[in-house]
Amino acid sequence: MELRAVRGMNDILPDEMVRWHRLEAAFRHQAELHGYAEVRTPLLEHTALFTRSIGETTDVVEKEMYSFERHGDALTVRPEGTASAARAYVEHQMHAKEPISRWYYLGPMFRGERPAKGRYRQFYQAGCELYGDPGPLCDAEMIDLISGFFKAIGIPGFKVHINTLGSGGTRERYRDALLAYFTPMRDKLSEDSQRRLEKNPLRVLDSKSAADREASLGAPALIDFIDDADREHWKGLLGALDTLGVDYAVDPTLVRGLDYYTRTLFEVRSTTSDLGSQNTLCGGGRYDTMIEQLGGQKVPAIGFAMGMERLLASIPEGAKKAGPDAYLVPLTPKGAERGLILGRELRALGVVTELDGRGGKLKAMMSRAEKRAARFAVLLGDELDRGVVSLKDLAARQQEELAIEGAARIIADRVQSQRDAGLSAEGAR
Ligand code: ATP
Ligand code: MG
Repeated sequence: MELRAVRGMNDILPDEMVRWHRLEAAFRHQAELHGYAEVRTPLLEHTALFTRSIGETTDVVEKEMYSFERHGDALTVRPEGTASAARAYVEHQMHAKEPISRWYYLGPMFRGERPAKGRYRQFYQAGCELYGDPGPLCDAEMIDLISGFFKAIGIPGFKVHINTLGSGGTRERYRDALLAYFTPMRDKLSEDSQRRLEKNPLRVLDSKSAADREASLGAPALIDFIDDADREHWKGLLGALDTLGVDYAVDPTLVRGLDYYTRTLFEVRSTTSDLGSQNTLCGGGRYDTMIEQLGGQKVPAIGFAMGMERLLASIPEGAKKAGPDAYLVPLTPKGAERGLILGRELRALGVVTELDGRGGKLKAMMSRAEKRAARFAVLLGDELDRGVVSLKDLAARQQEELAIEGAARIIADRVQSQRDAGLSAEGAR
């Protein structure tokens, strides 16, 4: 049997990793600028955590979770990060330790859905969660954090879509109105929607089926059902976004796939990518009742998550993986011994160094140095008898001899000055 990766799960090879590292570093930087600190939770959680928080009639819980039993526990590989973070927040009684917590996370999520471009079964999300602040200013600042991040990483075009779901009784009143609206046209809805209609008619609005979309066109708008406090929150959010100059569109059909949201909902979609229905880069919203539902105090919360693969697919390629600063080419047994020591000396000085242990002819080794995109090659051959090595600048195509004593320091200085000029491997990192 030929062994291959599981469908929908991808290897990320070292060549691609430069772009990942950059994206992750930019995200950490932006999150930390806003006062967020990283949390890491386990990949496995009790299945009940997701069924209780995400909701039984959501796509994720109904058909996408990787669930199994082990040692008598019903477990699920996390399909998203919000539920796990909320579980940790409650478990560690964070509300008693600090009035407001700002957490971010980065890592793989697992959903057994149909793979497509920008839709995988293992994919990476980066997200933020803010606990303890019910006000609309933090909703606006969170959307601004995302928008600033997208600009910083060079997403060429994106649009923020927002909506409000109201809270408390709003959902119930709206649910009844939707049910009354959809029931007469039940036959025209997708199978999933027909099945879920009584339990959760909001799902129809969120459906990707063309029939459901068409049926939704004349549906009542949620904004007409929200109460005064919800309306005030909503106005506060729009006002703050206007103050910040964030470009947004109010989108009454936006309900999103998870059950836990209250009030503010948002999505950021690419306007330039060719990802089709995978053009949603980021989704989030407020979930003021989840912490209490999970057994915690009444702590309001808001969060978002974005798909890293979709972000990478939306930004221009940029630089490829950088090669080593120095490539050691030993041409004799003595050269090999000296190369081992020189490699250690160079690395101690911060020079990324690779030794060609395969040996062979000079030409073969130099061609490998070129293929590795090295900056400098250091030839260790007969010249060692005179106490020197040859340093070859592979970009400038110049060669010179250096006394082996002190060679590491000189090479390190060269590498450093090229880094300062932004030319070397490290400069591209
Ligand atoms: P979609 O509508 O595209 O299925 P979703 O509503 O299920 O997205 P969320 O659960 O809100 O997505 O996740 C937040 C973000 O994570 C999405 O906007 C997307 O960028 C990314 N994402 C979600 N599912 C996948 C997946 N299967 N593969 C890659 N990225 C994903
Ligand atoms: Mg989905």
